[in-house]
Amino acid sequence: MSELSTVILDRIRDVADYPKPGVMFKDITPLLSDPVAFTAVVDELAGLHQVDKIVGIEARGFILAAPVAYRAGAGFVPVRKKGKLPAATLEESYDLEYGSATIEVHTDAFAPGDRVLIVDDVLATGGTAKAAVELVERAGAHVLGIAVLMELAFLRGRDRLDGVDVRSLVVV
Ligand code: 5GP
Repeated sequence: MSELSTVILDRIRDVADYPKPGVMFKDITPLLSDPVAFTAVVDELAGLHQVDKIVGIEARGFILAAPVAYRAGAGFVPVRKKGKLPAATLEESYDLEYGSATIEVHTDAFAPGDRVLIVDDVLATGGTAKAAVELVERAGAHVLGIAVLMELAFLRGRDRLDGVDVRSLVVV
């Protein structure tokens, strides 16, 4: 295991029964509050691909994606939950365990053919990431990959992202 993986794993806290009974939530706030660990994570994510734009997925994805964009010299584009972006949007819906969710991006967020890295904190079932890839591609950009801090392998999110370069700094 790499030194960075150990640093990350030591700073992600398991919270039982959040947000509902039976779920073991991976809380990244201890990592974010450690300046050395946070910087190391941002630097690692910023070095993965040469891109024009970094897309962050609301809300925890924003915390990582914005400094990654700054570090990589790329633009930052927010993908938000429905109703939060002010101008014209494209939207994409996906299934949750109970019900569905919709995410949006501004129609003019990308120049045609922009190379994009999508950043989020955790890859679980992959539903959010898959919807984000479809949204970004529909908006005229080209997704070079998805990068997450942590992948929950037992939920097999990677299987839903066939053909997408998925990088996880740690896999549990
Ligand atoms: P998925 O769509 O892959 O099932 O879920 C991924 C999305 O839900 C990500 O946007 C992520 O922020 C959030 N998420 C799901 N499970 C966890 C978790 O255990 N910890 C954190 N920090 N986020 C999670």
